[in-house]
Amino acid sequence: MPVVKFSSRLDSEQKCSFLDRHLLSIFTWLNMALTQHTIATPYMVGPVHCYTGVFDGDLVLFDTGPPTPEARNYFRDHIDVQNLKHIIITHCHIDHYGQTHWLEENSDAIVYLPYRDGLKIVQHDKRMMEMYQLLRDVGFSGEYLGRLQSIFDSGQLFPPFPQNFQVAEKDIPQQLGIKVVECPGHSQSDLVYVGEDWAVTGDTLLKGIFQSPLLDVDLETGERFKNYEMYCSTLVKLFGLRNKTVLPGHRYIIRGVEETLLFYVSKLLQRAEQLRPYVAEKDVMVLIDKLFNGKVQDVFHIFLKASEVFFMKDFLKNPELLRSALEKSGLFQNVKELYESAVAV
Ligand SMILES: [Zn+2]
Repeated sequence: MPVVKFSSRLDSEQKCSFLDRHLLSIFTWLNMALTQHTIATPYMVGPVHCYTGVFDGDLVLFDTGPPTPEARNYFRDHIDVQNLKHIIITHCHIDHYGQTHWLEENSDAIVYLPYRDGLKIVQHDKRMMEMYQLLRDVGFSGEYLGRLQSIFDSGQLFPPFPQNFQVAEKDIPQQLGIKVVECPGHSQSDLVYVGEDWAVTGDTLLKGIFQSPLLDVDLETGERFKNYEMYCSTLVKLFGLRNKTVLPGHRYIIRGVEETLLFYVSKLLQRAEQLRPYVAEKDVMVLIDKLFNGKVQDVFHIFLKASEVFFMKDFLKNPELLRSALEKSGLFQNVKELYESAVAV
């Protein structure tokens, strides 16, 4: 096992993770289809998981970890990189695709990216400009956007994209027996890969983490990407995975699909309720200041909170959509009270 580093902020989580690692070794033993690899990251979220398995005789890797020397060492020591045949990415966030270009240079593997991540690569500059415009439209200052842009442009968030890639939704060879399920919400491109009794779920189902639904431009329509609407249909699809062993992108395991969905939805409802008194405030920068009493100051943190504000506002405009997704999944009763206080029935 690699050394797993935890930031000091994750101390209580570390204790939890110790137990989870042991639970995981039991179910890895029960379920031999895939091996979980754990790689440290320098990000708040903590270590990330990649998975390997042999399908139809081919070595397949799901996700590639962050663009760090430690991750490359991990691959050299633990994975037969030269014999990799397929590299399949859940979504192009740095901790999940960061090593893809290096792996592509060091193997003959074919890289498969979500369709919408392919669009992001091709239209990168256009996408970024349109996203700054979305923020400008809701009150963000030129000074703030300049600082945000320098983070995006620094390479901290976008390590080299792979030079050649195929589209996961249509190009993964059928004989591998891997089903692709589109589960956007956290990003516009999240894919879940499903086998007979397992699912590699990226950042769609995480234990104890409310993964921010990130503000983005829908590259098919040029409009703002509607994370909330997408999440409502994704919720029903994720609920459909409850009989599979879920292999998440972080935190080793989840304690059940239903419990994980309910955690996420409860957080969503609580945060929507906190936002409601300020919902008429058009300037999102001012709104964030009021909502958090000026405590959120970090440039990227403000961006995450702005993303959430869009998401919660969309929910407050059309809460019925979430309600019906929860009812379809038989989960509504579990969060009925939170829902009612969020929408102030
Ligand atoms: Zn992640």
